[in-house]
Amino acid sequence: ADKETILNVDVSNETYDSLIPQLFHRIEEQQHSFIVAVNPEKIMKAEQNADLRELINAADYQIPDGIGVLLASRLQGGRITDRITGVDLMMAIIREASRQQKRIFLYGAKPGVAEEAKAQLQKDDPNVHVAGVMHGYTDDNDAVIEAINQSQADIVFVAKGSPAQEQWINDNKSRLHASVFQGVGGSFDVIAG
Ligand code: UDP
Repeated sequence: ADKETILNVDVSNETYDSLIPQLFHRIEEQQHSFIVAVNPEKIMKAEQNADLRELINAADYQIPDGIGVLLASRLQGGRITDRITGVDLMMAIIREASRQQKRIFLYGAKPGVAEEAKAQLQKDDPNVHVAGVMHGYTDDNDAVIEAINQSQADIVFVAKGSPAQEQWINDNKSRLHASVFQGVGGSFDVIAG
């Protein structure tokens, strides 16, 4: 994948049109895709914090979620010109998952929120297959892994705030049969309305 480095943080040079086909190809290949959204604030934090930097750089895709990232790329003679926001990428993945009948799991947010987000998504598009949901306040991580694997989800959205959600993905993806993992912050709350 095409990347640039901004203050030692990797940033992917992708568009929705380049990224979506890659992700769905990687589902067929049973390859993991760990996606993190980066904005200038996260890049500045990562510059001061080696653990955070390693976590971000451990992802397969670091999407440029902020105009400041595009500006930084331009200032260093880079080629990243398209902003990809976390929530827009999530919705684009969901649309393609609906088209290809891939299974989605929603993990995170307060009890009831992921259920409500599932209902909203399926109301907007009855073909969306949300195979399971789990709130983000359980201590029983094994139960979370079990629920996701049982659901046979291809795509897992993790809404536990950053960087907790990215840490969770990095720590647990080797035990999960799903392919695509995206940290999506407060998106379930937004979708649930
Ligand atoms: N959250 C969670 N478990 C926790 C802490 C937070 O599921 O232990 C959820 C919280 O309910 C909210 C989301 O994580 O839905 C965090 O949203 P926020 O907007 O704070 O995240 P950001 O996008 O700023 O990283």
